[in-house]
Amino acid sequence: MSDEARPASVADPDRAWRLGVLGWPVAHSRSPAMQSAALADLGLGHWTYQRLPVPPDEIDGTLAALADAGFAGANVTIPHKGAARRACDVLTDAAREIGAVNTITVLEDGALHGDNTDAPGLLDAIGVPLDGRTALVLGAGGSARACAWALRRAGCSRVAVWNRTAARARGLADDLDVDVADAWFAADVVVNSTAVGLHDPAETFVALPVPEGRIGEHGTVVDLVYRPEGTRLLAVAERAGCVTVDGLAVLVGQGARSLERWTGRTAPRTVMADAARRG
Ligand code: NAP
Repeated sequence: MSDEARPASVADPDRAWRLGVLGWPVAHSRSPAMQSAALADLGLGHWTYQRLPVPPDEIDGTLAALADAGFAGANVTIPHKGAARRACDVLTDAAREIGAVNTITVLEDGALHGDNTDAPGLLDAIGVPLDGRTALVLGAGGSARACAWALRRAGCSRVAVWNRTAARARGLADDLDVDVADAWFAADVVVNSTAVGLHDPAETFVALPVPEGRIGEHGTVVDLVYRPEGTRLLAVAERAGCVTVDGLAVLVGQGARSLERWTGRTAPRTVMADAARRG
């Protein structure tokens, strides 16, 4: 195990490497379409990226077998990001501090390297400097942790977390040295990291603390939730003149960072975005 070891796939790109996304369920994931298009564009069509549905009681064994099964690495989604963190031999600061791994890379020496690209993926998707800005993160689950960490690292002057279950917001705030927001405030950036709006758009301004009539007071509104027809949060924000960032832009940001780790090459982000939007 070594911080110095290269990704095995960077050392030997001609091999037919396997990649995939580990989750339960994972049928909805757009990562296979997005990553397969990117691999073809990079001339790595002999690599494959597949859905890997793995139930919780099988994840530890699956992670232990990754290297021997010919994997260059894997993305990790709900509910396995904590198990992935525990299975990795080497962790980036982001993975260690957030407490979750979404990108595993098999190193030349067989060790598993764990990173969290959800955090820089959010910043890539926002695409403008955030130093000195204020941020309100809605939610206290896995993605909220990555968002709060990223926004603090990006130099926001204040990052505050609101959550339906207040104790979880307090735990996140203590872990990551950010504030708890008891109520809405007009932050420069607001990020919806809850599942609200995914199934019932009418729930948006009822379940979240954001007043519909004041959403225009935010400069930027990010919704991690993605729906093909768009979300109500972003539709209202756009009409109010906010800059909006949708969940697919964040998906592309994290996926591009993962691909760059596995290939050592610049990710074709436009190709990935087009493929992700086609589904
Ligand atoms: P998670 O760990 O299960 O957390 C879910 C969060 O949503 C919790 O804060 C929960 O609050 C809150 N929530 C759920 N239902 C709610 C309701 N009716 N009212 C208020 N709050 C509610 O999930 P996650 O991994 O953080 O993911 C959250 C969302 O982000 C999901 O929709 C997921 O699809 C999306 N996501 C998108 C990307 C992307 O790349 N675009 C990446 C990751 C996640 P409590 O603590 O009170 O239960």
